[in-house]
Amino acid sequence: MASDMKCPSCGGTLTFDPGWDRLVCGFCGYKKPIPELVSKIVVPEEDFDAANKLASRDWKMEKQIVHCNSCGAETVNSKLQFSGTCPFCGSSNILPIDDRNEILAPNGIIPFKIREKRAQFIFKEWLGNRSLAPEKLSKEADLSEFRGLYIPYFTFDCETKSIYSGKYGSDATHCWTVENKEFDKFIDDFPVVASKKLTEDRLLMSVANYRTRDARPYTPSALAGFPAEHYSITLGEAWNIAMNEMMSYLRLEAYHLENARIQSNVNLTSSYRNLKYKYLLVPMWVNSFEYDGKRYMIVINGQTGEIAGQWPRSFDTLVKRALEIFF
Ligand SMILES: [Zn+2]
Ligand SMILES: [Zn+2]
Repeated sequence: MASDMKCPSCGGTLTFDPGWDRLVCGFCGYKKPIPELVSKIVVPEEDFDAANKLASRDWKMEKQIVHCNSCGAETVNSKLQFSGTCPFCGSSNILPIDDRNEILAPNGIIPFKIREKRAQFIFKEWLGNRSLAPEKLSKEADLSEFRGLYIPYFTFDCETKSIYSGKYGSDATHCWTVENKEFDKFIDDFPVVASKKLTEDRLLMSVANYRTRDARPYTPSALAGFPAEHYSITLGEAWNIAMNEMMSYLRLEAYHLENARIQSNVNLTSSYRNLKYKYLLVPMWVNSFEYDGKRYMIVINGQTGEIAGQWPRSFDTLVKRALEIFF
């Protein structure tokens, strides 16, 4: 198992090569495709009700789980390739946690498409467009700080049956009352990000849209040099979040079915059948910088290149920009 990550030509350590679905040796350049990723095999759906009994706990590698005392993230690392720092914030103030065999293993993975160089470029461009950022920021933000890691992500499939009542209308004078109308809707790959670190900040969450059809069966090779955040939202909690969000989605569906423009007093209840899930790892580039004693986080979607970040606004720059406009 561990020998899979050793270069057969020079004995060096192989790491995952973003965009190429392969392992590469940083010393001699040896390359080796990862069969699970180059295959066209789709990730199988798992039965939600049987998850406690049947879900895999086998990460197929020796793992090192650490808790970061600086940012609170828990991450799963390959023991062989563990860098000794928190992949989320870069801190070395970390605490190893005993390998808990009860943690679920991923079913699938969306490999990195965006390379680090590209992430740095996207970040630079983004910083350049923050016209109210302090001027010295672009000099101080460190491009070399980028860390690639996988974020935990659950998706849900289910059949839904909904019953709704309410008042709908095409305008204020053309209204109709609906009573106990039914519709069925199949929900496919409804996503829930299982990382509290991202979900606490709506801005960071805005980049968490992934093309889940590009997911491939899980393989530890994709984690060579790229650790994974351990889910801080459990499968059960994620389903509760999904159910809540699905309600809004199904209310909208009823609204579309009525071909309405206004609605009021809507009451909709839904039941769910045949619930399936996938536990995916999805790629993210993370960078953080300190400014005036405060930490700011930048994230880039490792599949699509979408960026979001926190950044300081400078009053001085604001005044300067205003003067440029008026004089
Ligand atoms: Zn080599
Ligand atoms: Zn950390």
